[in-house]
Amino acid sequence: MGPCAAESREQVLATAKAIADRYAVRPATPVGLIFRAGVWKPRTSPSSFQGAGEEALGWLKEVKDTFGIPVATEVATPEHVEAALKAGIDYLWIGARSSATPIVVQSLADSISDLRFKIGDLKAIFIKNPVNADAALWIGNIERLEKTGLPVMAIHRGCNHQPCWHMAHAVRTARPDIPMLLDPSHLSGDAAQVPVLLQKITELGLNGAMIEVHAHPESALSDRKQQIRPDELGILGNLGDLGSLADKELNWLRAEIDELDEQLWETIAARMAVSQRIGEWKKANGIAPLQPERYQVISEKLKVKGERLGLPEEFIKHVWDLIHEQSLKKQE
Ligand code: PEP
Ligand code: MN
Repeated sequence: MGPCAAESREQVLATAKAIADRYAVRPATPVGLIFRAGVWKPRTSPSSFQGAGEEALGWLKEVKDTFGIPVATEVATPEHVEAALKAGIDYLWIGARSSATPIVVQSLADSISDLRFKIGDLKAIFIKNPVNADAALWIGNIERLEKTGLPVMAIHRGCNHQPCWHMAHAVRTARPDIPMLLDPSHLSGDAAQVPVLLQKITELGLNGAMIEVHAHPESALSDRKQQIRPDELGILGNLGDLGSLADKELNWLRAEIDELDEQLWETIAARMAVSQRIGEWKKANGIAPLQPERYQVISEKLKVKGERLGLPEEFIKHVWDLIHEQSLKKQE
């Protein structure tokens, strides 16, 4: 845990001290407590804060030496790997944007293989899921990194601030030997969601969390809304025993179905909003809300679709009629 970005020496050391002071409960994760901070930030806009750069590696080293906590940072180029190893960084993580590009991950794996016995004492590599929901690519990246000979751990950080349980489940099933951590901060983009999401660790038998923690989140230079304060870390005490449920399969499947239901309702609500706009257009152009031939065309299309999807005709007609009825109400 630690800030999204290392912003200044004072911010890094203040956050690390607050974590070291308050971190009373240490769940039995495969890695224990690690202090994280990004020094090279992959930002959407070139005018956003890009991270403090190489200088900040020295601040992380100071955290390690002062508080005895191992430190982690994100790498996106072979030059980053070299600088991080020279600075004595213990763990590297590869972010979601790099993870979407296999050539980048391969170049990082190659430089880690080349340097890990020459400089530093790297302990493991974390690989986040790609920004797009691609389980096969995430698994491929794990394989690329395993060739370095270092332990590899997966981090589920979701896609577009939504969980991607179906992708995480696929990776968990294919590679039960690879520890999987949850990143509730990037997964939700919302500090208020972090405690709720952490419950998924025990529910799904995950192996720990990467949480963004900032001494003063309100003035953070990146990911301001999702970072929690060190005094909120008490939530970790509610986690219970990691891996206490014997069979998590049903919980994984329920997480998948909840995710699909969420998408279903969001889609229905978005459809109603478009329907309302169509209603406004019809009103302005003197057209009645109910257009029987349009209803008929869609009903016919749905019959074919139902066959293709293996959904019974009467079920699909029932759902479509309900949606259509509600849609007409929106246009009244
Ligand atoms: C981060 O951990 O600060 C980060 C940039 O994460 P992600 O790659 O998941 O967006
Ligand atoms: Mn971040």
